[in-house]
Amino acid sequence: MSDAPICPVCQNAEGGSCQRFPIHNMDASTFQCDVCGQYEASGLIELTRFPSLNSMQRALLSHRLRMKSSRGEPFRTTPEWLDDLFSNGSLPSPALQAANLARFAGDDVTRSGEPIALLPIGIHAIIGAPNRNTVIRLTKELVERQVLTADPLGTAVSTDPATGHPRQEFTNISLTLDGWERYEAEKRGQFEGKYGFIAMQFNDPELDPFVEDVVKPAVKEGIGYDLVDMRNVTQAGVIDNIMRTQIRDAAFVIVDLTHDNPGAYWEAGYAEGLGKPVLYICEETKFEEARTHFDTNHCTTVTWSRDNADNFRQALIATLRRSLNL
Ligand SMILES: [Zn+2]
Repeated sequence: MSDAPICPVCQNAEGGSCQRFPIHNMDASTFQCDVCGQYEASGLIELTRFPSLNSMQRALLSHRLRMKSSRGEPFRTTPEWLDDLFSNGSLPSPALQAANLARFAGDDVTRSGEPIALLPIGIHAIIGAPNRNTVIRLTKELVERQVLTADPLGTAVSTDPATGHPRQEFTNISLTLDGWERYEAEKRGQFEGKYGFIAMQFNDPELDPFVEDVVKPAVKEGIGYDLVDMRNVTQAGVIDNIMRTQIRDAAFVIVDLTHDNPGAYWEAGYAEGLGKPVLYICEETKFEEARTHFDTNHCTTVTWSRDNADNFRQALIATLRRSLNL
């Protein structure tokens, strides 16, 4: 059984349609929205939480649901998840939205072999933009910056929901040669915004498993970034140059100072000099007893201990979100 309601999240403000499938024996439904993807919500959430959202909250929710729904199973919303989303979450920065748009174009053109005739109805939710007007502005800017190629559509095919006026859409959207080079570099993971780099002492029996079991998974789950160290980098070449490239292209650098490793301090300085967000971590006892080098001990340092990984995880993610404006 299904009917054709308005999506309680995006309200189909940018068009598209939504289907509702009541879940058997439960006061809950699965929604299938052209913009937000597939998600589940209880009757209570639908009644008490969705109606009071403002437009930015709707855009954020729509984007997160869309990302989750691309992973398969319909995502079940809960009051706790919504609370966390609206107190800690935000849409990607405009720069990241633009990078997402270029990536979407590259993926789509690669798949179909043809330029994009018209951006899909849910494009703003896919790239994390507040609305379609923003996507159109970003498209224009990416064309000006010679990342995208696109032709203005002669006939107006969509209406600005804010003003009711027809708006200029684009057709024949693809990447320029520069755009493709960027796209391919990104596919290789060498593009800012894809990964973080961790500088640390290797082969320590306590730190190694802590980084593998706690730090890397926390970063992946908390903000969706891979965290790589030099050992994950398998390209051949001069090790110093590879490291510089890895740091240069990383979105942020985490430096573990537990062992006062000179290499880690050097990497921290290099990253700071490039203006990267650098975040220091240190084993708790070492930090309390010996502090770290005087140049860094006033910087944000998140301390860790094997026995209290949960606190560390939370503090690390909160600090990363702040540094990266997530
Ligand atoms: Zn929707």
